[in-house]
Amino acid sequence: MSDCTQTIESTTLENSRKRPRQPAKWKCIINKKSRYSPQLPQYPECNHNKKLMQCKQLTMADILHFHKALYQSDNKIDQDNFIIKFCSVYKPKRPNPYLNEPRKTLTSKYFIIKKNDGIMIPVCRQTFLKVLGIKRDRVQGVLARHFHADGKTAKENRGGDHKSHKNTERKRKVQAIAIVVGSSTDKLQKQNVHCYHWNESQLPTGSNEIASAIYHRLVNTDMENFTTLRLIADGCGEFLHKLIKKIRKKEVIVQPEEYVNLIEENFTAWNLADPQTVTVYDWRKESKKYLKPPGSWHFQFNPSKRFFLKKTKNGVSVQGEVNYKSECSIPRAVNKKGSGTPNSIKPSVVTVGKKINDKKLKSIDGLLKKHYGTNKPWKDLEQLNFYKDLIQNFDENNLEEPIPEDDFSCEYAEEIYLAF
Ligand SMILES: [Zn+2]
Repeated sequence: MSDCTQTIESTTLENSRKRPRQPAKWKCIINKKSRYSPQLPQYPECNHNKKLMQCKQLTMADILHFHKALYQSDNKIDQDNFIIKFCSVYKPKRPNPYLNEPRKTLTSKYFIIKKNDGIMIPVCRQTFLKVLGIKRDRVQGVLARHFHADGKTAKENRGGDHKSHKNTERKRKVQAIAIVVGSSTDKLQKQNVHCYHWNESQLPTGSNEIASAIYHRLVNTDMENFTTLRLIADGCGEFLHKLIKKIRKKEVIVQPEEYVNLIEENFTAWNLADPQTVTVYDWRKESKKYLKPPGSWHFQFNPSKRFFLKKTKNGVSVQGEVNYKSECSIPRAVNKKGSGTPNSIKPSVVTVGKKINDKKLKSIDGLLKKHYGTNKPWKDLEQLNFYKDLIQNFDENNLEEPIPEDDFSCEYAEEIYLAF
C-alpha cells in the first residue's frame, strides 16, 4: 500500500495547473518599475557658466549626489515631488514681443543642489534632464500639473521648494523691517542699515511693531544741528531683497536663528522681541486716544503721498499732499480737543509672547510631518526643538484669544518666508 504513505509535495508555480497571481511579473508593473528606476546620470555637455545657468559649476560628486537623491524612492509620486522641488515654473509676465499678447506657455527654471554647501545652482533643462536621467515630457507634465493645481504658486518664481508656497500664511515666521539712516547718496552699509526682526510666536505684525521700530531708530539717532527730517517708506527695499536672495540660495532653512544670523551678517540687527534692546509700544491704542480718526482730518489721508509734521506752539501741525511735487494743502492740528499736549502721550508697553492660532500651528505640524516623513517623528529631531516648544506651549495656553493682526502690506515691511 505504498500509495497511502506517499506525501504530496506542492509543485512549483511554473508547474501548477492553475497559475496564481504573480503581479511582480506583470508586464505593466515591470515597465512601471523600470520607468522609475535609475537611469545612469550623464555629465552636462553644455558650457553654461554664467549667472543664469551654471552647469559648468557641477562636479561629478554633485551629479551623483543629486541623481541618487531622486532615485532614493522608485515611487513616481515621490520622484515627481522631488522634481517640483528643484524646478520653478511660472507664466512669463511680459507679453510676447511679436504677438503683443500675454504668453500662453509656461517657463521653467531648473536647479541642482551642490553636495557640499547645499546651495542650489541654476542649470539648463538639458543638464537637469541628463543628470537625473529623465525625459523632457515627464518633467513638463509634472510641472504643468503642479502649476495648474494651484495657480498662485507660480507667481513666486523663486527657485526651490514650491510645495510650501501654497499658503503664505503657513510659513510666515520671521518678520523684518529695515531702516536706512542717511541721505539718498549714502552707500548701503552694515552701519546705516538697521534691521528690526522678530518672529510671529513673539509679536504680531502690525502698526505697533513698525511704529516702535521707527521710534527706536529716531530716539537713537543723533539729530543735533538738524531741523528737518525726512522719512521715506519705499516698497520692498533693496537691502531686504539682497538678504532674501541669499536665503533662497539655501535649500532649506529650518531654524528662525538661521534667518537672524543672515540678518546679523548683513545689517545692524535689532531684536524687536527682546525688551532689553527695543521696547514695543502700543502706539495704535495711544494714537486713538490722542488723534482724531484720519477720516475726519482736513485732507484726504489715504491718497496722500507726503505728510509734513511741524512743531507748533501747542503741539504738532499736519499737512497732507496728494502730489509729489505741488503743495496745495494747509497745516492744521489733528489731535482731539482736550487730549492734552504731545508730552502727555505715554503708550503702554506691548508684552512679547503672542499666541499663534491653532490653525497655523496645525499646519506647521502638518508641514513638518510632510517634510520629515511619518516614520521618524520630527519631534525627535533636535534641530526642530523650536517648533516643538511652540506647539507644546500652545497646548498649555490655548484658552487665550489670538491678537488680531493689522492689515498691512509689503509697502512698509518685507516678509521673509520660511521654506520647508
Ligand atoms: Zn547647461
